[in-house]
Amino acid sequence: MAKQPMLKFTTVSRDMPEKRMPNLRREDFKEIYAEYADEKAQEQSSRCSQCGVPYCQTHCPLHNNIPDWLRLTAEGRLKEAYEISQATNTFPEICGRICPQDRLCEGNCVIEQSGHGTVTIGSVEKYITDTAWENGWVQAIKPKTERAESVGIIGAGPGGLAAADVLRRAGVQVTIYDRYDRAGGLLTYGIPGFKLEKDVVMRRNDQLAEGGANFELNCDVGVDISFADIRAKHDAVIIATGVYKTRDIQAPGVGGVGLERAIDFLTISNRKSFGDAVEEFDSGRFNAQGKKVVVIGGGDTAMDCVRTSIRQGATSVKCLYRRDRANMPGSQREVQNAEEEGVVFEWLSAPKGFVGDPVTGVMVQKMRLGAPDVSGRQAPEVIEGADYVEEADLVIMALGFEPEDLPKLWNTPELPVNRWGTIKADYITGATDLDGVYAVGDIVRGASLVVWAIKDGRDCAQAILEKMGASVAIAAE
Ligand SMILES: Cc1cc2nc3c(=O)[nH]c(=O)nc-3n(C[C@H](O)[C@H](O)[C@H](O)COP(=O)(O)OP(=O)(O)OC[C@H]3O[C@@H](n4cnc5c(N)ncnc54)[C@H](O)[C@@H]3O)c2cc1C
Ligand code: SF4
Repeated sequence: MAKQPMLKFTTVSRDMPEKRMPNLRREDFKEIYAEYADEKAQEQSSRCSQCGVPYCQTHCPLHNNIPDWLRLTAEGRLKEAYEISQATNTFPEICGRICPQDRLCEGNCVIEQSGHGTVTIGSVEKYITDTAWENGWVQAIKPKTERAESVGIIGAGPGGLAAADVLRRAGVQVTIYDRYDRAGGLLTYGIPGFKLEKDVVMRRNDQLAEGGANFELNCDVGVDISFADIRAKHDAVIIATGVYKTRDIQAPGVGGVGLERAIDFLTISNRKSFGDAVEEFDSGRFNAQGKKVVVIGGGDTAMDCVRTSIRQGATSVKCLYRRDRANMPGSQREVQNAEEEGVVFEWLSAPKGFVGDPVTGVMVQKMRLGAPDVSGRQAPEVIEGADYVEEADLVIMALGFEPEDLPKLWNTPELPVNRWGTIKADYITGATDLDGVYAVGDIVRGASLVVWAIKDGRDCAQAILEKMGASVAIAAE
């Protein structure tokens, strides 16, 4: 009888890929986790309990067939594992690196809930597709027939790129417009290299370009070309522009030198990592080297800013957040990584104002958590008389993002948006009330996750193909 390769969670303990030492991590922007060795990936996959109703799969936005690719990995059948993995996910190696697995697949793993520690689903997903790239199993995009219809996609982030991938595989002509000079959206210019190295994103951009997608970069829709012109050129248009308007603080001292927006700080840092000449960095304005840095916010963007500051050589990095650790929106795993690298978190601390121009400090007011509000979340309240000044010579605001006013910017008042400014679109197909206009990703959901943008892009492309009468099966190949 064949040996049972699975259900080893009682005898094999959870083991993440090796993490680089914090003192080495602080020196560069390389990813912090190593790749699994083959035997380790097999061993860790063998811990899966092969549930009849896999909650990990239910809680993965893409409904990835996780138990099947774990079993195939445990059996050493990696090529088949890759084929199953890529059937539901356009960028498995990217999700494996940056999904907040603790809130999605791994957080719902049954063996985690029984106290044995989750299967390391994300790390195995990354390993499978990185191995596929190394072995040449990742197929070029080669449609069997070319179709006459064309789709214009505004935004080359994960939502737009996932849609483009599905459409090109079905032979549809695709043009992707983006105002940046490189494709990838926040994968390229938002998320730092220590979470997602840039060649991982660039090889996906190359794959699409080699597969016949046409990229119109440095093209700001609403400035370099009108939305109306794009609609006129294509049979359908997908808006995948993400959300980029920064939430600001209203407080004394705002507007002074040394107070910067997180998205600018991260974009400039990523540009430097590409080797670009970036005047705003070279002038010292967006360079944390030798500075006391204070980052305001408790989400993933704030975590990326504190860890970027450390790598740039800040003398100290503090993160102010108005709630406590248990109630922060960012990933606990990222907080731990940041602490290991030397970041200090000041919980229950909110900015009241800023001292000096250029800035020399942040006026901090201490908070406590009060009664739950209507959402059930405990609202922070000020503790009177506990204010103090935190020294700083670079303050980075990471308070979240909102959509830009697209109907106004694009002179398209008929574009349907809701009261938050996100586009009103069908949650499955992405269709809006405007004929042939679709929307996906953050511009529909508000600031969300890469995996949701990928799901939206894939679903929207399928809906467009169905409307064209194209074979959806071809797209899935
Ligand atoms: C700092 C940071 C860290 C994050 N970390 C994570 C993480 O670890 N894990 C995770 O799952 N999610 C993370 N996210 C969220 C994730 O990046 C987004 O949810 C995801 O990228 C949204 O994809 P999208 O395709 O909708 O938009 P985006 O990735 O924002 O791409 C939109 C694209 O549209 C282009 N564009 C916008 N307007 C125009 C215009 N007028 N003309 C032409 N082009 C235009 C932009 O240049 C951009 O390239 C993070 C976000 C930030 C800001
Ligand atoms: S895509 Fe994200 S949520 Fe789904 S299995 Fe992969 S890491 Fe988990």
